[in-house]
Amino acid sequence: MEETAMKNERGVTRHTFDEVIVPTYAPSSFIPVRGSGLSLWDQDGKEYLDLTGGIAVSGLGHAHPALVETLQRQAERLWHVSNYYTNEPVLQLAQALTDATFADRAFFCNSGAEANEAALKLARRWAFDKHGAQKARIISFVNSFHGRTLFTVSVGGQPKYSEGFGPLPAMIDHIPYNDIAAAREAMGDDVCAVIVEPVQGEGGVVPADPDFLKTLRELCNENQALLIFDEIQSGMGRTGHLFAYMAYDVVPDILTSAKALGNGFPIGAMLTTNDIAASFTVGVHGTTYGGNPLAAAVACKVVEIINAPDFLSRVQSAGESLKKMLEGIVADYPSVFSAVRGMGLMRGLAMSNAFPGRAKEVTSAAEKKGLLALLAGPDVIRFVPPLIITADHISQADKLLRQSVDEWLKNGG
Ligand SMILES: *Cc1c(COP(=O)(O)O)cnc(C)c1O
Repeated sequence: MEETAMKNERGVTRHTFDEVIVPTYAPSSFIPVRGSGLSLWDQDGKEYLDLTGGIAVSGLGHAHPALVETLQRQAERLWHVSNYYTNEPVLQLAQALTDATFADRAFFCNSGAEANEAALKLARRWAFDKHGAQKARIISFVNSFHGRTLFTVSVGGQPKYSEGFGPLPAMIDHIPYNDIAAAREAMGDDVCAVIVEPVQGEGGVVPADPDFLKTLRELCNENQALLIFDEIQSGMGRTGHLFAYMAYDVVPDILTSAKALGNGFPIGAMLTTNDIAASFTVGVHGTTYGGNPLAAAVACKVVEIINAPDFLSRVQSAGESLKKMLEGIVADYPSVFSAVRGMGLMRGLAMSNAFPGRAKEVTSAAEKKGLLALLAGPDVIRFVPPLIITADHISQADKLLRQSVDEWLKNGG
């Protein structure tokens, strides 16, 4: 078998991970070696239905033919030139993203954390330039996730990620998500920025209430603070809109994107207006790979495919089908699951109070059946499949998930 031959050739197994990789992760017991669409195959040739999409990254699925072709074509032309020179793919990508959004300008980097790092540094620098050093406070939300750099774990609302890394950047407040009164109370003229995920991803798949985001916009306007939307997970078509802010009709000052922007080729972007971008003058911020031609060429093609009305309306209807499927499971297993949350193809299935902290047992059972799903905290199973998911995939997932839950319950649940 082809996959077995590959394994022998490479001579590595899951055990190798435990010997040579810094143990920040505890990956699953199988090693994916090949993907196509929503399918993944492991070293033994076993096939999995992938509803994780590499954590909301593979929006167009694995090995999308148009992206493979784009990457191959660019690989033969130009890989890298540094920011001493610009390049055609990055200019085309910036044009596409600014044409499609509120933004006038884009800054490119290599990951979500770096996009947020740029956004937070820009907000502080903009406030410093316009109002002075005292306007440095950042408001963020409990359970939010913004990445793993020191600044972004400090701004993120999950203390476990910043524990033991102090001293941390200062003047950062964390207030409850979707709590308008708390936001009003926390706001002041020393605030330079409010950073929020329109749909909290890692924090449990929790969409913002429309009035909450509208209030944040008003509070930022009243206090000359910048509103930053972290759309690293909720963007690039995930909600059935290119970015979730379009569904809410609340326009941020800065927007960050990454994950599905490169469909697996690392790239991050920070989008903003002319006025705010003016604070990032030559030499103030940068990164060697930012706007790399390979990444930019792939992202350009991704934007072209996703930002089409037909594509996005298909995501909306697929999102409704996924929601209906999961609601059917809640209805049939009311003692196990309590609710379905989310927007579009970003959905969370919450465990009931009878099974606290046990979502992982269900995803492990599903994995054995060949169905891959994620967690969003200990109590929520998260589904962020490729946006090209079909009705057939959804009914297959329905069947596999039910079989997995049955087996898990039979084995003592
Ligand atoms: C994944 C994620 C990040 C971090 O992105 P990385 O590419 O892992 O650095 C930041 N914010 C949100 C909302 C995310 O989902």
